[in-house]
Amino acid sequence: MKRQAVTFLCKKSRSILLILLFLLPLSHQTSVAAQEQLPTAHFVEPGDTWLALAWRYGVTTADLQAANPNPNPAKQPAIGTTIQIPASTLPPRPNGRIIHALQGGLLEFAAAHNLNPWRVALENGMDSPYRPLYDQPLYLPTDTPLREFPNGFLSLELSNNPPQPGRAIGLRGEIETAEPLSVTLGTEPVAVFSNDSHLVGLTGTGAFLKPGDYTLTILAGNNLLWSQPINFVAGEWTYSQLTLTGEAATIDQESIQQERERLFAIWNLASPAPQWTTPFQLPIESYLEITSLYGARRSYNGGPYNTYHEGVDFSAYGGTPVYAPAAGTVVIAERLVVRGGAVIIDHGLGIYTGYYHMSEVVAQVGDHVEPGQLIGKVGTTGFSTGNHLHWDLLVNGVWVDAKTWQEQDMACWVLEGWGTPCNSQPVN
Ligand SMILES: [Zn+2]
Repeated sequence: MKRQAVTFLCKKSRSILLILLFLLPLSHQTSVAAQEQLPTAHFVEPGDTWLALAWRYGVTTADLQAANPNPNPAKQPAIGTTIQIPASTLPPRPNGRIIHALQGGLLEFAAAHNLNPWRVALENGMDSPYRPLYDQPLYLPTDTPLREFPNGFLSLELSNNPPQPGRAIGLRGEIETAEPLSVTLGTEPVAVFSNDSHLVGLTGTGAFLKPGDYTLTILAGNNLLWSQPINFVAGEWTYSQLTLTGEAATIDQESIQQERERLFAIWNLASPAPQWTTPFQLPIESYLEITSLYGARRSYNGGPYNTYHEGVDFSAYGGTPVYAPAAGTVVIAERLVVRGGAVIIDHGLGIYTGYYHMSEVVAQVGDHVEPGQLIGKVGTTGFSTGNHLHWDLLVNGVWVDAKTWQEQDMACWVLEGWGTPCNSQPVN
C-alpha cells in the first residue's frame, strides 16, 4: 500500500516524504522499545488468570482468549504453559492484585483485610464503597506483578515450574488471614503447613502420572473456590527387565504388603515444622555408580512394566558409610524383611528419607541426627541382589525423586517459604 502511494505523489510531496523517511528510523526505534515493554508471550505462574493477564497487559479477556483458543474457556490458563499476548488496546496495569469482595460487600471485605475501603473504591472507578458487591473483581495496587490469588493470599509460587511427574511439588505463599485452608491437586490432597503469615504446601505425584493438566484448587475459609490447572510435562524414564531368582524370588506378596502398610502408617504422619536447616546432601560419598534411578519402569520375570523404582540405587562396596542428608528424627532403625537393614528419618512437614539393604544399622529410633551423621553401612540385606544403597524420599505419603529434590535444592526453597533461613554451607 505504502509503495503505491509514493508513485502517485507530486515532486513537492516527495521532498516532504524524504524528510519523513529520514525521521522514520527514530520512530521505528520507539515502537520497538514499546514492544519490549509489553511482551507478546507470557509464561504462566500461579495467579495468572485470564482476568489478571488481561488487566496486566491492557487487553480485553475476549481478545486474550481469542489469541489462545481453548476448548474450555471457563478453565484458567494452565500454570507451566505459555500464553500469547495480543497488542494492548487498554492502559496496562503491570502491578497489583485482584481481590473479590464477598459477603458484606466492599466495606466488610476491606475491614477484614485491613484495607481502606475508599481507596479500593477509588482504584476501581467507584464513587463510594457503600454499595452492595458480590464477587466483583477489584483492583488493588501493589508493587508486585498483577495476579489473581485466592482471597487472603499476598503471593503464591510453584516450585520447579513446569512440574514433572514423580518430583516433589512445592507451593509457598504469604497469607494475610489465618483461615482454614483446603488444597487439592487433581483429586489428591496437598499437605499444607503454616508459620504465621508463611504458607507451605507439599505433595508429589507418582511416576506413572500422565503428562497434561491437573487442577490446583484452594479453598480458604468461606471464600470462593480458587482453581487453576497445572500442566505437567513428560518425564524421561528408563526401562529394565529384572529376573528374580534365589532368596529374592522367595519373598512373598504378603510380607511385601505388611511391611508397606506398617511404613505408610509412619509416612502418612506429618510433623508440623521443618527439622532441617540446610540443603540435602547425598547420603553416600563413595559409590561406584547409580545403578537405578527413581521412576525406572520395571518388568519382573518377563511381565509387564507395571511397577517403577521408588528410590535411587547407589552401588557401593559393602561397609561404605551412609550419612544423614539433613537433620531429622530417626523413626525406623531395624532389619526389615523386604528392605533389609533400614533407617527412616522424619525431616518434618511430611518429608521422610529412607536407607535400605544396609549391612549395619548405626542410628537408633528417636535419635536426632545432623547432616553428615553416620546412620548405617552399605550391604545387601533383604530384597537385594548385590551391595547397594537404596535411598528414597516421601512427601505427603508419596514417593518422589530424592535425587532431583537434592539437586534442585527443594529443601532451601521450602525453608524460604517457611520464613526461616537456609544454611547453604551444611555442616559435614
Ligand atoms: Zn532400589
